[in-house]
Amino acid sequence: MKKIAILGSTGSIGMQTLEIAREHKNEIEITALVAHSNTTLLEKQIREFMPKLVCVYDEDKAKLLRDNIKDLSVRVESGMDGIIACATEDSTDTVVAALVGMIGILPTIEAIKAGKNIALANKETLVTAGHIIMPLCKEKNVVLLPVDSEHSAIFQSLNGEDWKKAYKILLTASGGPFRGLKRSSLAHVTAKDALKHPNWLMGPKITIDSATLVNKALEVMEAVWLFGLGVDRIQVLVHPQSIIHSMVEYVDGSVIAQLGLPDMRLPIQYALFYPERMNMKLGERVDFIKVKQLTFEEPDMDTFYGLKLGLEAGRLGGSMPTVFNAANEWAVARFLDGKIGFMDIPRLIEEAMDSHRIIADPSLNEILKTEQETYDFIEGIVKSGK
Ligand code: NDP
Ligand code: MG
Repeated sequence: MKKIAILGSTGSIGMQTLEIAREHKNEIEITALVAHSNTTLLEKQIREFMPKLVCVYDEDKAKLLRDNIKDLSVRVESGMDGIIACATEDSTDTVVAALVGMIGILPTIEAIKAGKNIALANKETLVTAGHIIMPLCKEKNVVLLPVDSEHSAIFQSLNGEDWKKAYKILLTASGGPFRGLKRSSLAHVTAKDALKHPNWLMGPKITIDSATLVNKALEVMEAVWLFGLGVDRIQVLVHPQSIIHSMVEYVDGSVIAQLGLPDMRLPIQYALFYPERMNMKLGERVDFIKVKQLTFEEPDMDTFYGLKLGLEAGRLGGSMPTVFNAANEWAVARFLDGKIGFMDIPRLIEEAMDSHRIIADPSLNEILKTEQETYDFIEGIVKSGK
């Protein structure tokens, strides 16, 4: 029996993880669940999966939930301490890290310290703290498996191969809803326009990151930590059909790819059961006759210059990826609230990166301090109307 805790169970990845758990009832037990404030959905999940422990980050909502589930013997915690309690719960063997944003760093680190294997969706964690997390996994003998579809594809394409013989990674991108548009047409697009992803149904933050192509920059940085190739050995390739989820080119010129329909349940299930490949009853399968063609383009890094900035942040390293990521998190939240424009997202990231002095090997405290300083810096710019 696999014993799984889900951080972010009410989100897109969290809900799909529970679908897999429902499908494999006899093989998966849910030990702990974490949400921010969606107690209506969380209560349904609790009643179905009966975890031992749950956390609602918001204290008032946690109180409400405690009252609502008085009839059950499920402990309800709140705040960061509560998330960490769920991430380190004794009986758990694998933690699905599916919180959104940098809030995921600390619980992931604590889960690794407690010897839990990690199924990682939360890419912001590796982008900002990969230099802490990867050695910690080694020290604690913890397996960290990617859930992100591209990284799962790369991992599957490396299966059984000598990783040192991988010459290059080809990381695919759908191009998002604004593929083909230029800067002038993007000035006035709204959050509603940007939330219409052509191929994937995901949480709001990553959907905006896909529209700006910032998501690809985060994925390149994530791949650097997972697979040990430098930023310049990872090529972003726009592939609008989202059938090839990524590829590895080897030293002899052979290219191995993983293909499938865009459905996150596949990489989630793969990460939960690795090295076993389980039957997937849910959903459709690729029909190449229907797909007809697979096409490729170079990303437009002039229009979507968030990608260019992110690659630069990855090359510079140290605390720069934290600045890139924090600036993006701040800007995306304000864009979703209708407070800033779409093209303000890369503009604010660029300003934050330009004003930052890199810390070479930042500690966790320095990462969190840099995050806060970046928020304050951008808030200052936006308030002053620059
Ligand atoms: P969602 O926004 O759909 O879900 C986020 C989850 O985290 C929700 O359960 C939310 O709870 C919870 N949460 C947010 N903030 C807190 C907090 N402070 N304390 C406790 N819980 C919190 O995000 P996604 O599922 O789309 O994405 C999750 C991560 O996975 C991201 O890092 C994303 O980049 C990555 N990812 C997602 C993919 C996808 O297909 N969705 C694909 C590849 C990677 P509540 O519902 O109560 O707000
Ligand atoms: Mg992805």
